[in-house]
Amino acid sequence: MSGAACGYMLSRSGIPAVLIDQGRIASGSTLANTGLLQYSNDLTLTDMAEQLGEADAVSFYRACKHAAERLADIAENLNRDVQFKRRCSLYYTTTPDDLDMLRREYEMLHTHGFDAEWWDESKIKAHFPFSRAGAIVTRGDAEVNPFRFVHAMAEDACQHGLRIYENTSMLSVEPSATGYRVVTQQGQIETEHVIYATGYVPETAGGRWIRPKLTRSYVIVTDPIDSLSEWHERFMLWETARPYLYIRTTHDNRIVAGGLDEDLREPLLSEDHLHNRSMRLLADLHALFPSFSPQIRYQWCATFGESADGLPWLGEDPDRRNQHYCLGYGGNGTIYSMLGAHIIRDRLLGVDNPAAALVRPDRLKLGALS
Ligand SMILES: Cc1cc2nc3c(=O)[nH]c(=O)nc-3n(C[C@H](O)[C@H](O)[C@H](O)COP(=O)(O)OP(=O)(O)OC[C@H]3O[C@@H](n4cnc5c(N)ncnc54)[C@H](O)[C@@H]3O)c2cc1C
Repeated sequence: MSGAACGYMLSRSGIPAVLIDQGRIASGSTLANTGLLQYSNDLTLTDMAEQLGEADAVSFYRACKHAAERLADIAENLNRDVQFKRRCSLYYTTTPDDLDMLRREYEMLHTHGFDAEWWDESKIKAHFPFSRAGAIVTRGDAEVNPFRFVHAMAEDACQHGLRIYENTSMLSVEPSATGYRVVTQQGQIETEHVIYATGYVPETAGGRWIRPKLTRSYVIVTDPIDSLSEWHERFMLWETARPYLYIRTTHDNRIVAGGLDEDLREPLLSEDHLHNRSMRLLADLHALFPSFSPQIRYQWCATFGESADGLPWLGEDPDRRNQHYCLGYGGNGTIYSMLGAHIIRDRLLGVDNPAAALVRPDRLKLGALS
């Protein structure tokens, strides 16, 4: 996703670029991506304001909203159907104890002009078969098929001059007369700039700033449901608990449910464990929609990464001139990929991007990194 977003932005801006991938396009963590495009963050605006100060937190949320709008614009204008659909999100309280916190979040979003609405218990009950103490409805979110989206962006980028080499590993990056020489097993690439869009393998990006916490997360996709009429406007659902359950529908009436994050980096080796987690996700889904009893059609567990402050690492490494990161660590990875593609494109064009300072790779003191 990050490589395709950068390739798209650069080629559309007339900047010659080559994209290499050690595997196939969209085969990394992008393959596990459940396709929710939400500008609201795992870290609420109120929490972020406490951490960064209100002005920076609002700037970051606005940058995410802007990236979501860009994604929508791209998705709606690609030559292929990427199953993009604009949706609202319902962010509900997991327990009544979260009500005050969520209400404060709503007020903060509303005060700063985000398109958010407060739903109380009776309104939730009137639109869904479940009841919760309160919820925020945000507009301007969307769903997409990430695999199709990446392929369609890559195809468009190639039509605008990007060259893509699959099954080509970056082995090293060395200084050269042009700037850098990227060594692969097939040959070398001479370039002025290098962008690391290498996902949840932080070692590959090098440098000293990228220190994520790697976890793993679970997803199920059901068989199609006969009727989704109980599901108001197919809102995308998520909750205040951490880790949180998130659920959406698909274009062909399936349900995607994810969550149950574990603080473990190791890949999952046990089928029983995966089955156990899948059944828990199905039970969570059933608790919200008791009339649904779908079969699980697909299930997976995948690595996920976050930074200590919940923000992605996007932009130039201060220690390594013209080497950039597009590492969208965090729940809103796709939004971050697009934000990163913009920041890096602007840096290459010499254009000031106000969001760049917020996500710069050296923003955290090394001691504060996880
Ligand atoms: C279960 C799950 C659900 C998710 N759901 C959502 C969601 O609903 N919405 C959302 O916004 N985000 C979601 N995310 C996050 C999202 O998946 C990621 O943010 C995003 O896919 C990361 O894309 P990427 O391109 O940065 O990384 P990747 O897709 O991992 O791509 C990195 C690429 O780098 C290549 N590479 C690595 N090293 C080298 C090398 N040395 N040489 C050449 N190539 C190399 C790899 O082959 C790979 O293709 C989810 C993540 C998980 C795990």
